Amino acid sequence: MKEKELANPDVVRYLVNRFNLRMSKKWGQNFLISPQIIRNIAAVSGLEEGDPVLEIGPGIGTLTQGLAELGADVTAVEIDSRLLPVLNKTLAVYDNVHIIHGDILKTDIEREMGPEPFTVCANLPYYITTPIIMRLLEERHAVKRMVVMVQKEVAERMIAAPGNRIYGALSVAVQYYTEPRIEFEISPRDFLPPPAVTSAVVVMDVRQEAPVAVRNEKKFFQVVKFAFAQRRKTLSNALKGGGIVAADVQELLARAGIDGSRRGETLTLAEFAALADAWTEATAGK
Ligand code: SAM
Repeated sequence: MKEKELANPDVVRYLVNRFNLRMSKKWGQNFLISPQIIRNIAAVSGLEEGDPVLEIGPGIGTLTQGLAELGADVTAVEIDSRLLPVLNKTLAVYDNVHIIHGDILKTDIEREMGPEPFTVCANLPYYITTPIIMRLLEERHAVKRMVVMVQKEVAERMIAAPGNRIYGALSVAVQYYTEPRIEFEISPRDFLPPPAVTSAVVVMDVRQEAPVAVRNEKKFFQVVKFAFAQRRKTLSNALKGGGIVAADVQELLARAGIDGSRRGETLTLAEFAALADAWTEATAGK
């Protein structure tokens, strides 16, 4: 570490006072104050000198600094204009950091990052964790790895297996696109202000190939959506509730070899794929 670490309670408090910042709840502003956590995130990122990385929500620049110190080529998107003068000051010595003012859900990621594979690294604003992750995965940007800090409960949903009560649409999507793992947990004490919940860092290695063959991805994710929309219903009723005609539902289940009295949360990715493929075949040419 060449520069003084920003992730320190005194430094963060000093910056908050010096720039007269009021932390915005609306934008999920909980800033990291533990240098060890920054080092741990940097370590699991696998980033090396010159590697491109997209950071979402740099805040006052604590994690950005950790990534910049690795020599990575950092592009950081921050929505709060009040933080731009802070970032200009705290990261002034790093010529490998490029700050963009904008909303990550509206940023033209391809234009900013180019076509080369890149890593995403972020202490995510918790109010939009799922939309951010889904956008990056569904739009198939050239992301090779995502290293994100999220609420522990969300991290557990991402890695949950079929049959687990917390297994849901997020688990299926994350596991379809990536190989996820929880690396470590973070106490509320490591943030200013402390959030109400424990956090966890999840690493998602983006798959080169889907783990199950699916004929029509749109139908696959629709079936998943139907199955989890009404969790207390049987799969058969949930599919009907989703808008598939009753007679068709029985036929699809039979074709896929799945018992309709099961609950959606017990289906594996392969079973969802079989069901979606049966639906794709049944509707072909219609
Ligand atoms: N990276 C800093 C850290 O670890 O201390 C700050 C993390 S804080 C949990 C989330 C950051 O995301 C805040 O700086 C917030 O202003 C920013 N943010 C919130 N919504 C955003 C959005 N839609 N696009 C970009 N940044 C956003």
